[in-house]
Amino acid sequence: MNLVDILSARTVPCRGAYLAITRRCPLSCAHCLSESSNESEEHSAQMFKTFVETMTPECRPDFILLTGGEPLLRPKLVSQLSHHARSAGCTVCVATGMFFARSPSVPRLIQTALTEVDIVTASIDEFHEREVSRASVFRAVHWLLNQGKFVHFQTVTDDPASIYLRELLTDVKAHFGGEVPVFVGKLSPVGRAAAWMRPTSKSCPSDSGGCGMASWPVVTYSGAIAACCNQDVVNGPIPAHLQVGHAAYNSWSDVCAAFSSSATIRAIRVYGPHTLAFAAPLSGETTYCETCQGLSSDPTLTGRARNLMGKPFSAALELMVDSNRIDPGNFTLAGYEDWLGSTYERFRRGTA
Ligand code: SF4
Repeated sequence: MNLVDILSARTVPCRGAYLAITRRCPLSCAHCLSESSNESEEHSAQMFKTFVETMTPECRPDFILLTGGEPLLRPKLVSQLSHHARSAGCTVCVATGMFFARSPSVPRLIQTALTEVDIVTASIDEFHEREVSRASVFRAVHWLLNQGKFVHFQTVTDDPASIYLRELLTDVKAHFGGEVPVFVGKLSPVGRAAAWMRPTSKSCPSDSGGCGMASWPVVTYSGAIAACCNQDVVNGPIPAHLQVGHAAYNSWSDVCAAFSSSATIRAIRVYGPHTLAFAAPLSGETTYCETCQGLSSDPTLTGRARNLMGKPFSAALELMVDSNRIDPGNFTLAGYEDWLGSTYERFRRGTA
């Protein structure tokens, strides 16, 4: 199991699921997407357990990604969810800001939680490093590797040629060889970064195709389940056409059925929101995701989506899109230069 396995499944509907089990976080990173703090919202543990317990060996996602906020603020819940999900056959990944690395040793409850997961995604970037030192993070990652965990770093940048990024990649390679890959994402003026980062262009010609992100459901902090991980959608309220259930009263099987039966979500995945909106996508007024989120206000949406997805060529196109969106062969984890370039380019285009 490695990062490429997850990436190659990322755009296949319901191959994975995100669970944002808390919005709380003890760190105060300047670029935090969810604008988390220690006082942020946190909902019933039972609701998340009830939902995960509907997953069975016959009906489950391949990957569960526990996120937040900081999911390891609820170590007991991470243990319980991971234990059930792995019993059902899922691979469990937890995404953490590594706050616990500030302690001289990994706290016992977090140790227990981490023994239940398969993969740890550790955030490291110039903002996280102001909260938790690189030396502390590296020490904790060595501990995780010694426990037999697969670990990868997640970093963000608005400049793939930045000195910070090149120095980080060199340092990671020097410390861990090829054992710990670094996944590079694009830094955007979203969440706390919106207060200080220059807004990016309102439209992009290369963003006019289908949306691969409308593939893995996200159980949001409140339990409402979204069809994608766009932060505005996750923060809610979720536009009606992008809500695929609620953890308090829907099962995993219900969520899969909602994905496959929604012509609108399928059309967003295959053709993209601009095609569905029949709008000029490049006017500079509305972004790709803003167009998508506005679709709910159109009373003719469902009919038009059904009509579009009922065409014979749509079925063929959907098959191609779902099976071939990301070619894992394009990722070179050993050669950071090539890998960085291709990954960043995919992020820029919104296809990774
Ligand atoms: S285009 Fe729609 S489905 Fe895709 S990420 Fe944006 S809001 Fe979500």
